[in-house]
Amino acid sequence: MQYITTRGGQSASGAQAIVQGLGRDGGLFVPESFPQISRNELADMAREPYAARAVRILGRFLTDFTEEQLAGMVDSACARFDEQGVAPLKALEDGVRVIELYHGPTLAFKDVALTLLPHLLTAAAKAAGEMRDVLILVATSGDTGKAALSGFADVPGTHCAVFYPQGGVSEAQRLQMVTQRGGNTHVIAVKGNFDDAQTGVKRIFSDPWAAAAFGRKGLVLSSANSINWGRLAPQIVYYFSAWCDMFAAGEIAAGEEINICVPTGNFGNILAAYYAKRMGLPVGRLICASNRNNVLTDFIRTGRYDARRAFHLTTSPSMDILISSNLERMLFELCGRSAEAVRGWMDELKENGCYEIDAGSKEALGGLMYGAWASEADCAGEIARAWNEERCLVDPHTAVALKALREYRAETGDRRPCAVAATASPFKFSRAVSAALDLATDADDFELCRRLGDLAGCEVPRAIAELPSLPVRHRAECAPGDMLDALMKEMNRP
Ligand SMILES: *Cc1c(COP(=O)(O)O)cnc(C)c1O
Repeated sequence: MQYITTRGGQSASGAQAIVQGLGRDGGLFVPESFPQISRNELADMAREPYAARAVRILGRFLTDFTEEQLAGMVDSACARFDEQGVAPLKALEDGVRVIELYHGPTLAFKDVALTLLPHLLTAAAKAAGEMRDVLILVATSGDTGKAALSGFADVPGTHCAVFYPQGGVSEAQRLQMVTQRGGNTHVIAVKGNFDDAQTGVKRIFSDPWAAAAFGRKGLVLSSANSINWGRLAPQIVYYFSAWCDMFAAGEIAAGEEINICVPTGNFGNILAAYYAKRMGLPVGRLICASNRNNVLTDFIRTGRYDARRAFHLTTSPSMDILISSNLERMLFELCGRSAEAVRGWMDELKENGCYEIDAGSKEALGGLMYGAWASEADCAGEIARAWNEERCLVDPHTAVALKALREYRAETGDRRPCAVAATASPFKFSRAVSAALDLATDADDFELCRRLGDLAGCEVPRAIAELPSLPVRHRAECAPGDMLDALMKEMNRP
């Protein structure tokens, strides 16, 4: 399997695409074609455990590795999840199935890919003949940072540097990052929002001076953001897995379509669901859920992407994003893979902060996707409803998705079974969840976790419970314009 970029650039192997992260032309790597999974194979997969399903899907995309190699990497990654596994389903009413993607070491869905990426990346670097150490740069809206740090900590041949928006993440998310162990980990607070951090990281990537300076230190830059193909491929697996579990349980028939609803920020997770559909998974509509930063809802409804709007901090911070990087991959498919069209739109976005797609692409988008958004009050209301009516404790991101699905069903009457991505543990957002449930919030986030645990009759995950007792190891901060300097300083620290 070869990869091309969304801006018409080079052909690369899967290993090269993963090591490089971003195309040299600034475009994103996409597979040259989508491998197909037949109905018969789906039925076989329904009888297999998650790891075997993962090896099948990943094997189609990452042909540089043997099946045995992939199986070894997948097993190591799966071993980092709790006894419930990587993507267990929880049944709600009316054919809604929540895919709980937060049973990994950092309690958010980013773990699914980031427990695997260090293995993929180090093997890929070797396969591509790369002798230098890899420096992973990450801009995070909260969850990617910790998942990357946890995945790469003390992995030989790698360094991992994370930039997060100061004041833009939850207290638990912040502490998870600044207490990270590992001599190869670096964490820097940026005095700005996520878009500032992401723009800064992209600038470092495209700065030839930076590449040369890091090169002299024996380092090559790569990315663990969802622009990296190695982040997206593992996410395709759990949509297949959810369908297989529903089929195995007799909830759907062979070939029966399900809808998929995803709380969306950088557009990686929902893009993985679209790729699953393109590979032959029976999927009807994709429901793209946003919070008050609803640039994607408007885009899906109007065909016009306009990032020139106020940025809002919300209780679902991992979706506080106005420039969704992976949308570029979707545009590439919508316009029939015209790199020229994509380049034009991306140039307009850079220059004017907005662009409008052509009528054909807009119609294709509308057929595939439905966009809806939840206000802060909607989100809190949905957390309360899920608990009160279904005894299901959900985090604010998942609540945004459940609200969007409710709106979709009311508007369209489409009541097909629907898989909803539950992207984070409610314990990561104990303050927002407690407030939504009208519980007292007069204590720190960790006391609130204990109370939520009592309420739900479950234990607070250790990854959260232990945070207040861990030493703070990272204190660096910088202005958005000084990210490269701050990174250089970090890398020079003894
Ligand atoms: C990252 C994240 C999202 C958004 O996912 P994208 O792939 O960026 O669209 C949603 N919810 C949570 C909890 C996240 O960490």
